[in-house]
Amino acid sequence: METTESHGDSLGLEVLIPEAGKEAPCCPHGPTLLFEKLSKGGEAPRRFYACSACRDRKDCNFFQWEDEKVSEERLKARKSENQLKRVGFTQQQQCNRFVKFASLAVHEKRFCQDCQLLLLPAEHGAHSAHSCAAVSTAQLRRPSTLLRPLENKKSYAQYLFTERSAHFLLDTVTALGYNMVLCVGTPRLHEFIKLRNLEEKQPLIKSLLLDIDYRYAQFYKQEEFCHYNMFNHHFFNGESSSAVLQAFLTESQEERVVMVADPPFGGLVKPLAHSFTLMSQTWRKLQSPDSDADMPMIWIFPYFFEPRILECFPSFAMLDYQVDYDNHPLYKHGKTGRKQSPVRLFTNISAKDFILPKDEGYRLCSVCERYVWSLNKHCNKCNLCPSKDGREWKHCSLCEKCVKPSWKHCTTCERCCLPEHPCSQSDETPGCFTCGSLKHKRRACPLRTQSRQLRAKPGMRKTPSPAVLKQKTKRKSGAARRAKKAAAAQSH
Ligand code: SAH
Ligand code: ZN
Ligand code: ZN
Ligand code: ZN
Ligand code: ZN
Repeated sequence: METTESHGDSLGLEVLIPEAGKEAPCCPHGPTLLFEKLSKGGEAPRRFYACSACRDRKDCNFFQWEDEKVSEERLKARKSENQLKRVGFTQQQQCNRFVKFASLAVHEKRFCQDCQLLLLPAEHGAHSAHSCAAVSTAQLRRPSTLLRPLENKKSYAQYLFTERSAHFLLDTVTALGYNMVLCVGTPRLHEFIKLRNLEEKQPLIKSLLLDIDYRYAQFYKQEEFCHYNMFNHHFFNGESSSAVLQAFLTESQEERVVMVADPPFGGLVKPLAHSFTLMSQTWRKLQSPDSDADMPMIWIFPYFFEPRILECFPSFAMLDYQVDYDNHPLYKHGKTGRKQSPVRLFTNISAKDFILPKDEGYRLCSVCERYVWSLNKHCNKCNLCPSKDGREWKHCSLCEKCVKPSWKHCTTCERCCLPEHPCSQSDETPGCFTCGSLKHKRRACPLRTQSRQLRAKPGMRKTPSPAVLKQKTKRKSGAARRAKKAAAAQSH
């Protein structure tokens, strides 16, 4: 929800992390999140519950004011509605089906594209009018190529790693000495791990996938997949499912585990950080009761969320590595002249232990002792490699720091800004809200289409705001504005 997490803004929404013991009402996606609408004047802020997973009211229309009295009848109706929306097969059934499916003869193995379902022979008839295709053993091992990415659905926007990024991640965690990977929203990484295990060249790596996309349950054993919502740390199959994570982390006492998460990019940094913290706590308790270590984590997210992530996890560092995706035309690697990906790795593992590939344009900065993007030149005055966005930044002696190449020092604002910024201190900025120009309004902005495309990137929740929030807020929150500005500024 791009309309969340405004930090102290007078407008917009903030998401509140639930107090222990206080239960939020449930929608089909588990406990909802509590949002606070900050008001402009002296009005008291209003709080309401809305779905944690869906940004589009079409996908989940749950809405309830915090102080709203909900009748028994309504609660009952809601409960049965939540049950109804639960998926067809239980996970146990899915596993049994998979065992059966795997033992079928080649010509019997079929996948229904309309239903996104592996079919057993007895079901072929019922799907005969659907578009069904044969499934090879190789395809069965690569569910992410068989399943249609949920990319038009705003809620679960699925952007799959390119081979290169998936291999980089896998090679990196192996090189760092991990042999267990907790894949949170990274189905393709999970799949790559399992494929590599088949090669039997390297030591085996154990992997557990936690994802909200239940279609993946068709392909994995119960101890390899949990139907999970990372915005509220909710396991859809309750205890039996959270026990799978518990067992995985228990095993990790002997082994070295790392979490790799690639959440939808729409914001909601706080609830994500909260879920990851809970996971880390579970891990820590299993390690040794009085350990204060954190579980090693890699959180994949756009660079312009750096301040927000560091606010939640001060020990994290952002790496220069640009993660790219197969099914996102804008977010490919920069080398061939295409747009550079803004997606980075945030981690609590020592940044200098990550060796970024030289042949992809990274170099070792011997002063910073870490690998950086080739255009990220070390600044002797700042004593660091300053670039965040992949471009070469330049030092401003007045600001006493390095700034984006497109910025110029403005003596009125007393800082570096885009040359065409609204040069006024007033809050009610006239002119364009996207690029800062005073010559036009946002509607007429030449960057608008471009920034719209940018917004439509991996999980970046689309504007206008989700219906549920749209009705409640007139303007976007600080987070949305910043994310958008960052996205727009990128193109300058
Ligand atoms: N790059 C990754 C995929 C990232 S796309 C890869 O190639 O493996 C984001 C993933 O998060 C998708 O798999 C999606 O199903 C999952 N997801 C989206 N919302 C989620 C939620 N609320 N909880 C858990 N997983 C979620
Ligand atoms: Zn079908
Ligand atoms: Zn500098
Ligand atoms: Zn300056
Ligand atoms: Zn403009």
